[in-house]
Amino acid sequence: MGQGVAVIATAPERTRNRDVHHRFRFDSYFYYLTGFTEPEAVLVLVAGAEPRSILFCREKDLEREIWDGFRFGPAAAQSGFGFDEAQPIGKLDEQMARLLADQPAMFADVGADAAWDTRAIGWLNAVRAQARSGVTAPGEIRDLRRLLDDMRLFKDTHELASMRRAAAISTGAHERAMRVTRPGLHEYQIEAELLHEFHRHGSSSPAYPSIVAGGANACVLHYVENRARLEAGSLLLIDAGCEIDGYASDITRTFPISGRFSGPQRDIYELVLAAQAAAIAAVRPGQHWEQPHDAALAVLVRGFIDFGLCAGSPESVIESGDYKRFYMHRTGHWLGLDVHDVGDYKRDGAWRALEPGMTLTVEPGCYIRRADNVAAAFWDIGIRIEDDVLVTADGCEVLTSPAKTVAAIEALVGTD
Ligand code: ZN
Ligand code: MG
Repeated sequence: MGQGVAVIATAPERTRNRDVHHRFRFDSYFYYLTGFTEPEAVLVLVAGAEPRSILFCREKDLEREIWDGFRFGPAAAQSGFGFDEAQPIGKLDEQMARLLADQPAMFADVGADAAWDTRAIGWLNAVRAQARSGVTAPGEIRDLRRLLDDMRLFKDTHELASMRRAAAISTGAHERAMRVTRPGLHEYQIEAELLHEFHRHGSSSPAYPSIVAGGANACVLHYVENRARLEAGSLLLIDAGCEIDGYASDITRTFPISGRFSGPQRDIYELVLAAQAAAIAAVRPGQHWEQPHDAALAVLVRGFIDFGLCAGSPESVIESGDYKRFYMHRTGHWLGLDVHDVGDYKRDGAWRALEPGMTLTVEPGCYIRRADNVAAAFWDIGIRIEDDVLVTADGCEVLTSPAKTVAAIEALVGTD
């Protein structure tokens, strides 16, 4: 930061309906800097010669605690979490007008929340109102996210421990789903098995809404309805991962509902699996962000041509974008506190170089809808295979490991 004052608020509580709230999830930036999980909390960082951290949080309130549960209160939060100071949240506006006086810059996540932006402008105006007493207001508003994104992109040992735990629990959940799946069940019943496995291992929430998509539903990329019956002969695509200590896991597996791949299903599955292997092999320091995607795409396009889904040379199919009828998304994203985690993919116009400590997903897929110019044998096949990968000093480590080969999957599905 150099000089200035940063203000980072946790997420607001949101109403679900009437007087019922959604389960509270802290803001990822705030949590990254504090580890503090209560709502109604703000971190202020003062940079410069005498740097300090100040937490604003809810006061102890025995009456409210009877209804809503324990609160640290400023004193216990300060000592328990290691802030230099802590103050009641009700003092925030008054304190900000003081803290921002004679500071060159205010760091904030401008644009994230309109009400919060208005409040921050109010502090600046409060400082400006003191001008005649010789106080100057910050001349600059800077985006704190620019600094934090790059810190969050590289995971330390402690963060990786949480991510490994999330990955292991989600791995177990996917294998449980494979074991219990059989024709006649419904997508929501498989979703319930995933949730059971997440929660019984201490995860308080999935990292994102689980996709449990049987048959043609797998071709809807963000399908979350999860209501349909599982039909014999179809595939089931599951994209689900739990959150542990705020850190996400994100796994997709696709497997036959009755336990055996048909010929065309197996062909496409092996193709996507080969594309994923090529992409994972391209995850290592020195490669840039786009190289795993390019590696996966090269494999997929050759397959699309071999199976008669696309016509022409690989170069022409890539050039024309014809492959996008079957593969319309990217091959991965950064993974961390947010499932689609922060961090630049490009810098100064060039794809970001992969470096040790970065975590990303590798998730090629193939989605074949019913269409006149596509062989009917391939209709309604939607396949994605997604794993979580850590860039290491000499390559990468795959953190997630549910059954993935045709043999391993066929040995597992329906065995419960
Ligand atoms: Zn993903
Ligand atoms: Mg996913």
